[in-house]
Amino acid sequence: MDDSLVMLTVLVALLLGLAAGKAWERYKLREGRWIDRRKARESPHYILGLNFLVSNQLDLAIEELTTAAGIDADALEIHLVLGNLFREKGQVTRAIQMHQQLLQRSKLTEAEQAHVLLCLGLDFRRGGFLDRSHEAFAEVLRFDAGNYYALLNLEKLHIEQHQWTEAYAIRERLAALSDPAQRPKHQAILAFLDTQLGLQALDRRDPSAAVSRFESAMQLDPKVLPAYLTLGDLQREDGRPEDALATWEQVITIAPERAYLVFDRIEAITREQGDTERFQALGRRLIAANPQDWRARLALGRHLANDGKPSDALDLLLDSLAHNPHALAIHQVIWQALAALNFDADLVQRYMALTREAVFYLDPHVCMRCRYRSTELLWQCPQCHEWNTFIEERITPADDSEETRA
Ligand SMILES: [Zn+2]
Repeated sequence: MDDSLVMLTVLVALLLGLAAGKAWERYKLREGRWIDRRKARESPHYILGLNFLVSNQLDLAIEELTTAAGIDADALEIHLVLGNLFREKGQVTRAIQMHQQLLQRSKLTEAEQAHVLLCLGLDFRRGGFLDRSHEAFAEVLRFDAGNYYALLNLEKLHIEQHQWTEAYAIRERLAALSDPAQRPKHQAILAFLDTQLGLQALDRRDPSAAVSRFESAMQLDPKVLPAYLTLGDLQREDGRPEDALATWEQVITIAPERAYLVFDRIEAITREQGDTERFQALGRRLIAANPQDWRARLALGRHLANDGKPSDALDLLLDSLAHNPHALAIHQVIWQALAALNFDADLVQRYMALTREAVFYLDPHVCMRCRYRSTELLWQCPQCHEWNTFIEERITPADDSEETRA
């Protein structure tokens, strides 16, 4: 036989083997007769059920899949999905019952047991039975130590209960399992968890443990801003204002769009040091670097208003308002400055003209993942528990000229 004939023989043998395997999968002996296992999956009820599932019509999906499950009581995946549908509908007890019944089947493979346990873990979690949920996910890992989904759910359980050490250990396992290209994503989450551990150390009044946690967070991900914020606070409390300033100035370098997080802190220290010029220079530098930066204008405007320069403040504040007419904070400082100027009619007119077309809006941050809205920047979403998913939500500014368009 020449080489190509050998190849052909191997291929044919392989295909025959596959076909035999398929046939074996397809037919099953039940009560003394062979039944066609494809029947349930080929029934229109199964297909309809899946279609309803895709279009998010859960009641109709349940109806069709229940009929399909009746055709073949053995079809594991249909029962599994039905249980999940009941859970999604809030019928947790029923979901738990269905999944527990599946688990009692005698001839489940390890992979099938892991699937059912995973669903059961989700049922328990939904029902608020956190310990049992934890047990179920841990058991999945006994069957399948690298089960990504079980690890992810265990991590969420720990995070919900503020068990940061445990969550950290699980995230390390997830990182080890994942593709090297995904490494930075895991590092960033580990850095947030490290920051939480630092905050926890602060709660038990252990600032040196806290500092080392913040430093380790920064090493994992130099962009973990909350670690910088609190580390600077600790340095300031420790009587090292210059170190605190250096830490906070790093925030501005790393993430200029988030520079406003350190404005109040930097302003307070420089004011204490009697050096108001340093903060003003910072504000002007940021505005020059990013003409859209309404927060730097607001901070500098507030600073000037408090410094007895309401007129200079007002110029910046009205400019700031043109870039984001929906920020209530700007309006508040504008009124403060207008009051200091005895409500000069021309200035009030200028302000009125800018705000005339603005729709007032009070919750300017939104989670990119689940659209959860918040009135402030949050590092972790209270709804979907993802890290660092909040962005500023803007509505078209009242002044729609080229310069103000974001
Ligand atoms: Zn979210």
